Amino acid sequence: YLKAGILAIGTELLMGQTVNTNATFLSQKLNEIGIGVYYHLTVGDNPLRIENMLNLLIAECDIIFTTGGLGPTQDDITKDIIAKSLGLEMVFDPHSMERIEKRFRHFNRVMTENNKRQAYFPENALILDNDMGTAPACIIKLEALNKHIVVLPGPPKEMKWLYDEYIQDYLMHLNPLKMFSKYLSVYDLGESSTEDALLDLINEQTDPTIATYAGDGKVLVRVTSFGHTEEACQQSVNSMVAEIKKRIGRYIISEEGKDISEVVASMLLEKNLSISFVESCTGGKLVESIVKFSGVSKVVDRGIVTYSNKAKIDEVGVSEATLLTHGAVSHETCFEMVKGLCEKTGSTLGISTTGIAGPSGGTSEKPVGLVYIGLKIGHKIMTFENHFSGDRLTVQNRTVNKALKMLYD
Ligand code: ATP
Ligand code: MG
Repeated sequence: YLKAGILAIGTELLMGQTVNTNATFLSQKLNEIGIGVYYHLTVGDNPLRIENMLNLLIAECDIIFTTGGLGPTQDDITKDIIAKSLGLEMVFDPHSMERIEKRFRHFNRVMTENNKRQAYFPENALILDNDMGTAPACIIKLEALNKHIVVLPGPPKEMKWLYDEYIQDYLMHLNPLKMFSKYLSVYDLGESSTEDALLDLINEQTDPTIATYAGDGKVLVRVTSFGHTEEACQQSVNSMVAEIKKRIGRYIISEEGKDISEVVASMLLEKNLSISFVESCTGGKLVESIVKFSGVSKVVDRGIVTYSNKAKIDEVGVSEATLLTHGAVSHETCFEMVKGLCEKTGSTLGISTTGIAGPSGGTSEKPVGLVYIGLKIGHKIMTFENHFSGDRLTVQNRTVNKALKMLYD
């Protein structure tokens, strides 16, 4: 098992001006490929303290990552410090210089003498071209210790690009173990219920390992196995996935970690089902969640936002009497919305939403979070009452997810 440590360099991190997202990103990525992260250290742009932290990580870890301090300014000293503490010379790299010059010409900027510093590297470093910025990254291999120092720039966009482009492959070669993962997208079942259902599996896990991540109404269950052959890993993951599906199969909408909107959009296209939307409390978010995928013009007819009572009457023919008797947030209005919608559009599928997203507007009879969703499939119309918790945005997002899940089912 390879041990890694991450050293984030930059005074702005210590001042609380910048959140250390680089460490989070790297940890997630390393975890995915079976490299254990043992340390997150953060240090300012101070030579002595950088050197101390570096030495600490070299003593403890097989792979050391640094981020930040590769820029052209005087406080960007990461490479110099690494060279100094390892007793390496700094060597000029003409190829990097050429690329930096080219980049400046391309953006019509004047290069300063300082930028030349970015083309110097500790001797024998493996230099990695940075297509996203001026500072190239590098990897320094400490042959005698069989350790690796991966030196990355601070700007997250550049750091991520470099990681995906070069570092992951480099690390996979270092790691003798093969691995295989599946990502199960769970909807309509909260994180704690998901964990409850899998608790014994999670507690007993050795290989495959199971981890859950929650966010945005979705719970992602990652199942990962490490082994000497790819087939063995796949087999072990697949049998665990089969066990998980036995328990919560009806909540799993993808084994590739997809969002439900993507799965529903593909399903509509595959089955060639025309659809239209009439939305009140979600204000267009539902149709938006589908039209963000290209090609859906073949199936999406339209989305109408009927926020006021008048709009519900004018656009989809909800009767005034229904609105008066039952109110806008009711089974009856929701029913008439989707019925009127499909009469107007002729779509095979229709969906309506009406509810109280809050934070104000709730009553004891109709509390915040009460949302009706109507679904018309062929000639059949169904309406469902939901009680969602959370703030306005959360209620809206949950409504969208629930409506999509109903379409999926
Ligand atoms: P530059 O060429 O931009 O100077 P650099 O490698 O010297 O690159 P820094 O100067 O340390 O990097 O940081 C550049 C930018 O990246 C800053 O805006 C900083 O907020 C951001 N940054 C640095 N380190 C991190 C980190 N660990 N997590 C997130 N953002 C970071
Ligand atoms: Mg800098």
